[in-house]
Amino acid sequence: MTIKTNPVYVSTKDTAEHILSKYDNFLFDCDGVIWLDNKLIPKVDKFLQLLRAHNKKFIFVSNNSSKSRQVYLEKFAELGIHNISKNEIYPTCYSAALELTKLQIPLGSKIWVLGDEGIERELTEMGYIPIGGTDSRLDSEWQENHPLLTVDPEVKAVVVGSTKKFNYMKIATTLQYLLYKNKSIPFIGTNIDRSYPGPEGIILPAGGSVVNYMAYTADREFINTGKPSSDFLDIILQDQGFKREKSLMVGDTMYTDIKFGNDGQLGDGQGSLLVLSGGTKFTDLAKLLDNRSLEDESLVPSFYAESLTSLVELLE
Ligand SMILES: [Mg+2]
Repeated sequence: MTIKTNPVYVSTKDTAEHILSKYDNFLFDCDGVIWLDNKLIPKVDKFLQLLRAHNKKFIFVSNNSSKSRQVYLEKFAELGIHNISKNEIYPTCYSAALELTKLQIPLGSKIWVLGDEGIERELTEMGYIPIGGTDSRLDSEWQENHPLLTVDPEVKAVVVGSTKKFNYMKIATTLQYLLYKNKSIPFIGTNIDRSYPGPEGIILPAGGSVVNYMAYTADREFINTGKPSSDFLDIILQDQGFKREKSLMVGDTMYTDIKFGNDGQLGDGQGSLLVLSGGTKFTDLAKLLDNRSLEDESLVPSFYAESLTSLVELLE
């Protein structure tokens, strides 16, 4: 592995213009980059307009599995960002559905879900039959004779993602599928994020906390369909017709977003930009740079900036 040089701080008009001229395709994480919870990060709409004016392409790659692409579209519109199409949005509820097809699980199969509605919607749209998920019977207190504790033998895979309704009934039912047939049913986890930045500076648990909870309980590995999975990146690049060397990943999390861009060799090995508007602060980056080991190299961004706000202000 090559040792990366320290990241370039994008703090001058020249460096911002360099970014704009070097890359044709921008892959944006959403939470902490485009918005914080339900608040648009200031001037993000301007930045996207500027990219369009320069004939740049951009898409959104989110490890959040709770919202389907349709719901993302509605959120973008509510925040005043228009002209986005469904095929420019890649949440991990959608990548989980893509993974099921890649595993050649026949359309029409039942899939057990632990997670929010986004997963159910994307699986249904792909042609699968989600069960579990938001079924209100799972909201009950623990019952040892609960009907959903009996495994449905027609279930062909398990998908686990984030949910704000995590409870013992959901853990216990999901565990039955993860253990079924000697743990042989495929186990898909939508992401590995520990937490994400919520409103007013609060940090909230993310999907990875649920996925890893189930992996620990069942003592099983899972297939991660979120960033930094290289398979996920390959699918996106192919789908969009993006050239790897002309693409830049912009994110606020080093172990998912930045690693995704670096492992995927975007921008000829210079294809990751960390923004400090979300879950990672400058002190976190400085700590990484001070004590970096060889394994940490894939976490080191090529560039870092305060936010998309600061980038657009440099370019104005
Ligand atoms: Mg993020």
